[in-house]
Amino acid sequence: MNKTKTTCVYCGTGCQLWLKSINGKVVDTKPVMPPSFNPGRGKLCIKGWSVHEFINHPDRLTNPMIKDINGQWENVSWGKAIDYISDKFKKIMEENNGNKKIIGCLSSAKCTNEENYVMQNFARAVLKTNNVDHCARLCHSSTVVGLGASFGSGAMTNSIEEIVDAEVIFLIGSNTNEQHPLIGARVLEALRKGARLIVADPRVIPLAELAEDNNGIAMHHRPGTDVALLNGIMNVIIQENMHDEQFIGKHCENFDVFKEEVMKMTPQRASLITGVPEEKIIEAARIIGKGKNTYLIYSMGITQHSNGVDNVKSTANLQMLCGNVGRWATGVNPLRGQNNVQGACDMGALPNVFTGYQPVNNKEIQQKFASEWGIDQDEMDDETGLTVMEMIDAADQGELKALYVMGENPLMSDPDSNHVREALQKTFLVVQDIFMTPTAELADVILPAASFAEKEGTFTSTERRVQIVRKAIEPVGNSKADWQIIGLIAEKMGYSGLNYQKSSEILAEINHITPIYCGITWERLQENEAGLQWPCPNINHPGTVYLHKDGNFSRGKGYFSPISFKGPVELPDDEFPFVLSTGRTLWHFHTGTMSRRSKTLNERVPEGYVEISKVDADRLYIKEKEMVKVITRRGEISIKARLTHKVSPGLIFIPFHFEEAAANILTNAALDPIAKIPELKVCAAQIKKIQ
Ligand code: SF4
Repeated sequence: MNKTKTTCVYCGTGCQLWLKSINGKVVDTKPVMPPSFNPGRGKLCIKGWSVHEFINHPDRLTNPMIKDINGQWENVSWGKAIDYISDKFKKIMEENNGNKKIIGCLSSAKCTNEENYVMQNFARAVLKTNNVDHCARLCHSSTVVGLGASFGSGAMTNSIEEIVDAEVIFLIGSNTNEQHPLIGARVLEALRKGARLIVADPRVIPLAELAEDNNGIAMHHRPGTDVALLNGIMNVIIQENMHDEQFIGKHCENFDVFKEEVMKMTPQRASLITGVPEEKIIEAARIIGKGKNTYLIYSMGITQHSNGVDNVKSTANLQMLCGNVGRWATGVNPLRGQNNVQGACDMGALPNVFTGYQPVNNKEIQQKFASEWGIDQDEMDDETGLTVMEMIDAADQGELKALYVMGENPLMSDPDSNHVREALQKTFLVVQDIFMTPTAELADVILPAASFAEKEGTFTSTERRVQIVRKAIEPVGNSKADWQIIGLIAEKMGYSGLNYQKSSEILAEINHITPIYCGITWERLQENEAGLQWPCPNINHPGTVYLHKDGNFSRGKGYFSPISFKGPVELPDDEFPFVLSTGRTLWHFHTGTMSRRSKTLNERVPEGYVEISKVDADRLYIKEKEMVKVITRRGEISIKARLTHKVSPGLIFIPFHFEEAAANILTNAALDPIAKIPELKVCAAQIKKIQ
């Protein structure tokens, strides 16, 4: 039996694990134990323990396939598939004569940094477009924009380890124990050490119950009212003079304009908007205002709104207000849902930046990349590319002719799936994945990719920690690593710049042109079992545990944004009287491609469900496990009812992992105007009994 140490491929915590393999098959998983470094401290959650179960699943895609004119899949050689794709891409580019928005690429938060780097390089150097994006658009694009504007850096400011030393933990819009269980474990440890926990979430999540039992506060605000809640808390902090005037005066700007806006949101008004009792808002403010250090955690409850950027900026405002930035056990800490969503952003799999957030429309930076890649700068795309949702709309309008999807499943993950389906059917669609996803079923060509256990590279965890991914077995069937596949297409299209022999060569190139990754070399990662946290500007730098040390913000001074409250785009009415919110469960991951092929996980939760309050269920004569229809202005699904105290009357919740009851058929594609993130957390819905 072989043992290979690697990094978990599910959530962004970055737990270290051993994959055990026999005769080319991965058969078991074990956690990396202390004293070796592991963010999970010798533990794995149930997803981590089960991570080996999907790797050798019989559903794995093992051959390239082309769809024939009758819609049937035909197994083809790699040569034929690569010829077919490159000919088609070249033809589309020639026919559209220099149009740089004609083809798009979706990169992947599940693939390695090196593969994301190669994908954006391919888009920019070969397809000559900045149309490259990935599913961070759907989860944390508002974080990148919001924290970038407030602090100058759009990542988690502090590290996981610091949670246990927090005096106060403020958790808003993050179901931490279920989505990041081993970060949740640190919250529990902090509670045992006497920390006070404040939880704000529309649902009664497990940590909310625990907060109330441990001298903390649970606030169940109406979905989409985060700005009102946060402004209400800050109003009390300022009113009662609990803010850190010295920190604000020395390290921040625009405080007076911000204060004028916040003082409009009295706790009384905040209570009316949010539904949270006024005394709870005041108490939360006093705990934060008087605490020595508050560690703020948020996740998609904050970001997935049409005002997601406003929400993020409000969390930054709160932490600056009390001087809770740039110190140990403080900060604004957005937890990343997927293993490498941080890395995919860092690698420039975004339409407006190259690696390390270097803007695509800066001529000097463009020249640097053109020279590194050996291409003509004049042929590069000068304009920001299209985002995920904009590419879908462009495809629907016939303006985007082809889409190359690597390890993403937009038909399940994007809002308003019926619209997404129609749009994808109008393009030449190439899907590269490990399993046949609903998106892959619509493709013209499928390319079988190697899983994380079959290749080398790096992932960057939610705390900016770059860690190694090691190869445990050879690629299953005829699959290949994603970076190799992209390199083959590029070469066929006449570009040899992606002709790497191993992924460490790609990381060396990333080191060379990415200031925040300069010191994170393959050699150093081999030597440092804890990996390295960016920014790490040179090979002697130890990496950065927390950002903005001593109030020295990446942008110079921290910026207070005045944010007025705006409600969600679609609110309940007589026809659609419920608020529908969507999210995840402990037992599954994202669109279920991997976790639903894990026996352990799928046996535990084999099908989708809608959570409905017992009050509403009684009123509608709905019983536990009864099939109901959930309907919105976009579509309808049939799904089992789960009666629960977790949602209040008027609110329903559906996890989005289940293809046969796909929540995103229902969700609203209304976008945040800046981050272009859809409002996946709030839309109006109705429930009907199925007679
Ligand atoms: Fe994997 Fe996240 Fe679970 Fe750790 S907490 S084992 S990284 S899914």
